[in-house]
Amino acid sequence: MLWGMAHLRSVQRSVTMNDENQVFDLGEVVRSLGEAGRRLTEIDASEGAAGNLSVCLLGSTIPHPEFTQSEVIDLPIAVPDIAGSTLIASGSGSRLRDIYQNPSACLGCLTVEPGGKTAVLRYAKQRNFSRLTSEFNSHLGVHYDHMCRDSLKYHAVVHAQPRRLVYLSHIAEYQDEGYLNRQLLRWQPEAILNLPEGVAVVPFIVPGTADLMGANVKALRAHDIAVWSKHGVMARSNLSVMAAVDLVEYAETAAIYECLDLSLGQRAQGLADSEIRAIARVYGVKQRLY
Ligand SMILES: [Zn+2]
Repeated sequence: MLWGMAHLRSVQRSVTMNDENQVFDLGEVVRSLGEAGRRLTEIDASEGAAGNLSVCLLGSTIPHPEFTQSEVIDLPIAVPDIAGSTLIASGSGSRLRDIYQNPSACLGCLTVEPGGKTAVLRYAKQRNFSRLTSEFNSHLGVHYDHMCRDSLKYHAVVHAQPRRLVYLSHIAEYQDEGYLNRQLLRWQPEAILNLPEGVAVVPFIVPGTADLMGANVKALRAHDIAVWSKHGVMARSNLSVMAAVDLVEYAETAAIYECLDLSLGQRAQGLADSEIRAIARVYGVKQRLY
């Protein structure tokens, strides 16, 4: 079964990316961010300059040849325990679909300085942004939480705005986490395998604020993806940035089925609770939703 093979590949990649002596080629990391940006655009989760991406790396790096300029910036939160780590993040106003073709215009590369309050931002001459993404505080908060908690060497975070999931988050019932997950995870057998903890729900909070960062860090501690009500989603992975994008795609696909069902007068039954429990049992997935 393909699920088993995919899982095995993920585990192997995880071991590699989080290896003790990992050397990160920033050229490859940048390319992975470009591919992720393209996929988020393909699935209608990144209109205009919406959405943002970042990775956090702890280990040796092979520098990117185009990040030749530098300046020191204040970090939105102090992250002393990951001093020396490298973060690559998209710039404010950058289109995720442009990263693949023109990464150096869209991305900045940070090295966290001792003490964790400041970082050296390296960027290219053709940089097309004045500051990093306005959601950088949420990215950094989630990276810090997981890098420290799980002693990771690699962690990826994506923020996207998938349309159906966001639409559902405007409906009061779907702002209830239990209801949202039971409605979403019934549409495909893969859903409970890929989202065994379900999707966390963060209430509407003004974008870019410390309040959103705090609620989001808490939500992503026990989940790999959170809906920011009436706004978008944030997903995380310690495997690859594309694995985080996959989570957005799985959740959005479920939301597409849910919206289809709503628009056709709720004629479908979806997978029964007993069927979902049987899938989880056969594939050894621990879940508490059904
Ligand atoms: Zn947004």
